[in-house]
Amino acid sequence: MEINYKVENSVAIISWNMTTSPMNVMNDISIPEFAGHLETAYADPEVKGIIITSEKNEFIAGADVKMILRNNDKDRSEMHKFSLDFNHIFRRLETCGKPVVAAMNGTALGGGYEVCLSCHYRIALDNPKAQIGLPEVQLGLLPGGGGTQRLPRLIGMEAALMLMIEGKRITPKEALGYGMVNDMAASREEMMEKAMKWVLANPRAIQPWDEFDKKTGAIKARENYKVPGGNVQSPTGMRTFAGGTAMIMDKTKGNYPAPIAILSCVYEGLQVNIDRAIPIEARYFVKVATSKEAKNLISVMFLGKNDADKGASRPKNIPATDVKKLGILGAGFMGAGIAYVSAMAGIEVVLKDVTLDAAEKGKDYSRSLVQKGIERNKTTTEKGEKLLSLIHPTADVADLKGCDLIIEAVFENRELKANVTKESEPMLVENLGVFGSNTSTLPITGLAKASSKPENFIGIHFFSPVDKMMLVELIRGKETSDYAVAVAVDYVKKIRKTPIVVNDSRGFYTSRCFGTYTTEGIALLKDGVNPILIENAGKNAGMPVGALAVSDEVALDLALKISKQAIADGALTEDDTTYQATKLMVEDLGRLGKKNKKGFYEYPDGAKKHLWEGLSQYFPVSEVQPEVEEVKKRLLYRQVVETIRCMDEGVLISKLDANIGSILAWGFPPYAGGTLNFPEFVGKETFLKEVDRLADTYGERFRLTDKQKELVKSL
Ligand code: NAD
Repeated sequence: MEINYKVENSVAIISWNMTTSPMNVMNDISIPEFAGHLETAYADPEVKGIIITSEKNEFIAGADVKMILRNNDKDRSEMHKFSLDFNHIFRRLETCGKPVVAAMNGTALGGGYEVCLSCHYRIALDNPKAQIGLPEVQLGLLPGGGGTQRLPRLIGMEAALMLMIEGKRITPKEALGYGMVNDMAASREEMMEKAMKWVLANPRAIQPWDEFDKKTGAIKARENYKVPGGNVQSPTGMRTFAGGTAMIMDKTKGNYPAPIAILSCVYEGLQVNIDRAIPIEARYFVKVATSKEAKNLISVMFLGKNDADKGASRPKNIPATDVKKLGILGAGFMGAGIAYVSAMAGIEVVLKDVTLDAAEKGKDYSRSLVQKGIERNKTTTEKGEKLLSLIHPTADVADLKGCDLIIEAVFENRELKANVTKESEPMLVENLGVFGSNTSTLPITGLAKASSKPENFIGIHFFSPVDKMMLVELIRGKETSDYAVAVAVDYVKKIRKTPIVVNDSRGFYTSRCFGTYTTEGIALLKDGVNPILIENAGKNAGMPVGALAVSDEVALDLALKISKQAIADGALTEDDTTYQATKLMVEDLGRLGKKNKKGFYEYPDGAKKHLWEGLSQYFPVSEVQPEVEEVKKRLLYRQVVETIRCMDEGVLISKLDANIGSILAWGFPPYAGGTLNFPEFVGKETFLKEVDRLADTYGERFRLTDKQKELVKSL
């Protein structure tokens, strides 16, 4: 039994309480059972009305995404039948002739909220942690249980489209404001009482988009239903659709089919009655649910990320560990951020810098974030004070005594890092304490040489800004033990970020592959491609920022420094394009990037940045320009080729880490499912052919070996 059924005061109470799943979800087991209970209630003459609720914390969390994924590459007609059958349950519910109330005791998302939408009345428990909404778009889907039709009919097209296209999740109070719920209750008891009262008081309840047939008394779809706020053809409607299309195309660049499909569902469906609208939605639902984009978003961004969050790459042989006291060396930009996210997770933090003043400045960062949180009602003064009380600024190394983990975030300098390692390591908990380096470029095996216990030394690479970026890249040096990896993974889980584990290499995985995006942008510039085309092609391909803009953000002098180090180490030669270009920009022209407001772009005070007019003097623009598709290919394929090399060299250990890392670390397009899903996304044959062509045309940086090609086939 997944859903309970009982009759009280002539009202059927259908209460979800799934045992086969940790949360109430709509799947192959629960959907038929739910439909069965509804039929029992419709058929029972004693039953005057129905209340749908749940005995768990959530109402219904949504459709089971695994069920949708299983059907992703099935025949479209099968999916279409499934969709119509599913919708039949909802349509039958709202036209059953008995009043039905949703008693929403908690989160109601996607299919879960679509159940509520087909009810005649919705009462929500006032729980600020509960989430209500139709967030399917985030998984490349659309609300396929009538949501695209009922929500706009209930609250108007403008608000419904905004909520569905952004996939917004809102609190019950906010939902009340939108008209998505009709009433609130302070307790479960009050909610059930109100539900019971409403059912008994409204025996002839029907939806506003339905009407009673005057002759037969049957419930039928209303032909000329007036949508709140205006119909499709009204001035508001036309403005909404024209503006909506432009906004979606600007945001998605046409890479994500779901938002436009939602818009089409509303546009087409709201011009006909609800019975004819549902099949329109079903047609679009099948189209998006069988798309590669949905498959990638569900399998990588949802299921894959969940696995990574749970520590998929954690060595299984080590018992659970728990960092209670953390030391941070360097209270600068990164150290201050690490202190904040760690204290947020309840970890005691010792924040050490060379002077107490510098350490206090690092803590100021947390103070300002706490203050902002209080002002925006995201936290309370009490919680904020508790968080701040966990951060102890100091200049005294002895305060690190008893730390389970120390993370150094001092300047990027080998000698300094070696010194702080030697000085602070003895303060760690004996034998079990782990030392992590937040270096972004220095190989971990080399840094571990300063450690007296290199097996307990690991790279813990955060991204900036630390409080916003969800990924942490953990780097195994040659001697790093499984134990140290386990401690680091458990710590990252504790601060609620996503860990990936990689092996040591120059730039590890993320910086190395992200670097190919910026260097290809610079190579394109050197090849005479118009910088506007380079930037637009990057964004059209789905990268969050153009390659030249992001080079400026990272800083051109840093790129030059990294190139110089690589040349010194024999990993790069002086004729390297990026080295030449950044040397020119930094040493000859004094253009360091965004940080001195002069890079590939100009950054005028109080105005938007724009490409530097002088650029063409040093990087002449060719008369004949390539097709935008070709520029997109160079920018994306280059990142993918480097990821395949990382996999081949053993820098990457798992495909999941590669994909999740590429999306979360540097914004490789999620629709493609990450760098290692990209070959399948474009078709492996096509990918391999294109790689050869790119290598023949632009250089060996695109070349894959036969072994690497085999690896692509096996992905
Ligand atoms: P930063 O210059 O902002 O901070 C470095 C801090 O280290 C300064 O406050 C300095 O006073 C302190 N420091 C110097 N010597 C010290 C010592 N002996 N003991 C304690 N503190 C000492 O630098 P940052 O940007 O925070 O970078 C720190 C590390 O993080 C570097 O290794 C960098 O490569 C890495 N990193 C930076 C970024 C980024 O975006 N900035 C991203 C990932 C990793």
